[in-house]
Amino acid sequence: MVKAIVGSCWGDEGKGKITDMLAEKADIVIRFQGGSNAGHTIINDYGKHALHQMPSGVFNENTVNIIGNGVAFNVPYFIKELNYLKESGIKEPKVLISDRVQLLMPYHILFDTLEEARLSDKQFGSTKSGIAPFYSDKYAKLGIQICDLFHEDILMERIKAACEIKNVLLEHLYHHEPLNPQAIFDEVLGYKKYVEPYITNTAEYLNKAISDGKEILLEGQLGALKDPDHGIYPMTTSSSTLAGFGAIGAGIPPHSIEKVYTVVKAYSSAVGGGAFVSEIFGDEAQELRVRGGDAGEFGVVTGRPRRMGWFDCVAARYGCMLQGTTDIAFTVVDVLSYLDKIPVCVGYDIDGKVTREFPVTPLLEKAKPVYEVLPGWKSDIRGITKYEDLPENARNYIEFIERQLGYPITIVSNGPKRNEIIYR
Ligand code: GDP
Repeated sequence: MVKAIVGSCWGDEGKGKITDMLAEKADIVIRFQGGSNAGHTIINDYGKHALHQMPSGVFNENTVNIIGNGVAFNVPYFIKELNYLKESGIKEPKVLISDRVQLLMPYHILFDTLEEARLSDKQFGSTKSGIAPFYSDKYAKLGIQICDLFHEDILMERIKAACEIKNVLLEHLYHHEPLNPQAIFDEVLGYKKYVEPYITNTAEYLNKAISDGKEILLEGQLGALKDPDHGIYPMTTSSSTLAGFGAIGAGIPPHSIEKVYTVVKAYSSAVGGGAFVSEIFGDEAQELRVRGGDAGEFGVVTGRPRRMGWFDCVAARYGCMLQGTTDIAFTVVDVLSYLDKIPVCVGYDIDGKVTREFPVTPLLEKAKPVYEVLPGWKSDIRGITKYEDLPENARNYIEFIERQLGYPITIVSNGPKRNEIIYR
């Protein structure tokens, strides 16, 4: 069976923990989009780990971890993370890399950095991991597939074609020295020996695994609101964050994805710019950020303080709908335990009209939150493993949100550790 684990909103919902947990029983975990701009924090028996590009199944020695064709594959990062796992005493993970995955090139990072500098105060808050230039090149057919490393003539031809365009931009737009195709060729060819043992036709591998009845997880990055089609464009990422894209980014049939676990966080947080309707500020935000503690309310990639807000039913319902949610994993409920009263955004007021539909970006900028305030539970709920043992007000909060979203919350996460989990 194929299950997808994806985010409902802006990302950082705790997908890493849920994937690591579900991976215990999975044969295969696949990353199908995005790249090293992701940050998953996983706390398990091996300690606390921040992974960026590796699938979260690497802590289970029987799980095969796949870098799908849809990923922006950063080879130096891959080598770094493999070494990190080795140094942390983790048994060498089983990894496969799609032979069609495209390479994140050194110049993608350069262009990301130069463009953010050029935009100055209008910048997107990019992690400067090269993701936008990578996907631009992919769709402009200037990308380089990993299989090209084994066909040097083609590799050189592809690099020259990319440099031809890039050097015009470098000279005339960014006033930067031009790229040298030979130097890039040499650098990239150096990747070959590191990746060669892992490369295979992962689509064939996965389709066979599906026929054999294997347990397969698709691991999403970020969340639905960062999807370039359905999210808060243009403050989105550059590859689809939706479960449906898992079929494409991994090369499996769309109908093979039987379960979609959408990870929904019990309050809101976001990194980067863009409208954030239920955002809170000042001391109120700082308290939630600090209480978030382990929930890493400082970006894993950038270390920036995340923007904080109350739970947003409008955004989360929309995100769950687009993900095709079958189950919600509702996370970090424990962090709210300090509050007397918990505001929940149940609608958006746009020019005096209240809506529950998530609007297009120009209207989103005008939206004001409409809150309902629920009573808090004021007690520590970590360590509780039975749903019935949660305080009544905690259950009321969860069930109120479940009704608002219209999808079943079947997993409640009440702490960062693997065993801090309640199945309903
Ligand atoms: P991801 O990108 O969706 O995987 O999310 P991150 O890993 O960036 O952020 C999730 C953070 O919350 C990590 O530091 C987790 O250890 C932590 N976390 C996950 N679930 C829970 C939970 O239920 N309670 C608390 N307190 N922390 C959690």
